[in-house]
Amino acid sequence: MSGVLFKAACPDCRSRFELAAGALRLAIGGSRRTTFYSFTCPACDSAVRKPAGERIVELLTRGGVRTLRLAAGAPQSQTPVRN
Ligand SMILES: [Zn+2]
Repeated sequence: MSGVLFKAACPDCRSRFELAAGALRLAIGGSRRTTFYSFTCPACDSAVRKPAGERIVELLTRGGVRTLRLAAGAPQSQTPVRN
């Protein structure tokens, strides 16, 4: 289970590469907009953040990527903004 590599691409320098689970981080928020994964581009060193859909979340979680849950105060809120 430890040899999994994830394909990723950098929007800054446009290089493509494969990352081990330890190089990725997954953040799961209360909504899809706050659910994303991030990594540091090995080519240009920029911090990349991309939205993660359900499939990606499942894939990364299974692959052993460190997961951070951000959904502390908002359990499945249907109205994210109230004014
Ligand atoms: Zn890059």
